[in-house]
Amino acid sequence: MRRLLVWAGIPVMVAIANVNLLQAQSAPATQTVKGPDERMKADILVVVAHPDDEGGVTPYLARAIYDEHKRVAVVFLTRGGSGGNDYTREHGPALAAIREQEARTACAKLGIRNVWFLEGKDTASQNVLNSLANWGHGANLEALLRIVRLTRPEVIITWLPGVFIGENHGDHQAAGVLATEAFDLANDPTSFPAQVAGATKRLEVYLENLTPWQPKKLYYFSDADDQKQFAGTGPAYSIKEVSPAQKKSYVRLALEAAVPHLTQFPQAQQFQKMTEEQFEKFLDDPNNTFWPEPMTLTLGKSRIKGEIAADVFWGIGPQAEVIARDECKPSGEVVEPSAPVKMALAGPWGFYEALRAKACIHVPVAKEPEIEIKAGTNLLVPLAIKRATAKALDIVIEAKTPSGWKVVSGQGTFRLPEEAETDLFVEIATPDSSTEELKKIAAQQVVVRASAGGTSVGEVKLKVLLKASALAQ
Ligand SMILES: [Zn+2]
Repeated sequence: MRRLLVWAGIPVMVAIANVNLLQAQSAPATQTVKGPDERMKADILVVVAHPDDEGGVTPYLARAIYDEHKRVAVVFLTRGGSGGNDYTREHGPALAAIREQEARTACAKLGIRNVWFLEGKDTASQNVLNSLANWGHGANLEALLRIVRLTRPEVIITWLPGVFIGENHGDHQAAGVLATEAFDLANDPTSFPAQVAGATKRLEVYLENLTPWQPKKLYYFSDADDQKQFAGTGPAYSIKEVSPAQKKSYVRLALEAAVPHLTQFPQAQQFQKMTEEQFEKFLDDPNNTFWPEPMTLTLGKSRIKGEIAADVFWGIGPQAEVIARDECKPSGEVVEPSAPVKMALAGPWGFYEALRAKACIHVPVAKEPEIEIKAGTNLLVPLAIKRATAKALDIVIEAKTPSGWKVVSGQGTFRLPEEAETDLFVEIATPDSSTEELKKIAAQQVVVRASAGGTSVGEVKLKVLLKASALAQ
């Protein structure tokens, strides 16, 4: 009954309204919504710490750019500036300003134009935690996430987060930590959500209108002395192979791209003048630590099913089978009630153990924890005393050192407060030696033991190589 009344009451009005609607639809009604800026799109995003760090992977980048036509962008977490100047007199912030220009020119030589510098401060230490503290971990992670969402890379290549004997800068490791975090967070709409919120007309300067993005693979490279330990952890690329497009070896192309880094690498000019024969000889010299042949990129994480050693871009494309989640064991060692107190190596080693588990990254770890330090400086062995309960505890710490080394502090009996974990450290003075003597000395072992109530609660071992020069621990 009601329906009939309605139909009976307004038939004429409905007809008029329909005519108006038809007129409106005949006008061009589709409005184009702007997409992301395609000029920013990258196939590879390189995340490194300092101007010239990109040189660690330029032999591979030359291959990807010239012969595989990949788009590459680079993020430098710092502008450099805490190191020495091997070319002119400027230092500190002035040197950092120069290094930014050197890095832009070096990247441009390989055709890389999208280059960003974030706000990390060049921190001359081996400890990744010092770098993260001095950079402002959160602010730089937020800034890096913005670049990942802007460039939408298929692949991220970064420094390996880990402690190895070698020129092992804490800033390099910190770049690897942030890149690892960004790999997981960029696709999470709750991570820095204002970046991925749609822009509004009202207060439009606040919301960025980026889109969550999942990079497909995360690769690491390292400047550890022993490059052989990375064999088999990912694809290996010959640096001596000749680029079909450029008719030069990839290492030559890398070297040419390194020439602008005069404040750090003035010898690149000399290398350029070498004949092919001289250059071959230099590359085959076992003391050459510039680039390993072949260069291995360690696969840390992948969202694509495939072999670890498969090519970087293997499986990446519209048909890719994307793996939704990582499956890793929960982080941290469990303190069992049967062994209620446990001592572990803390500091960067403890942090990396937790990071590997949390981020589910598959990376090589030194067989025994290791570090190099400058001979004559003090070694710090950071310790975590973990307990099943938060009771106060008396603990005895003893250190066994190589002959000639001296424990300065951290040995003896300590009463620990009521908490589940307490951090301590043992400080050990190392002997000074001549550069010639140091060349003959192999890594030596420090052992720290702990006991509570006469029962052992663990020991930690650290392999220490004394060198004529090394960054502060
Ligand atoms: Zn560096």
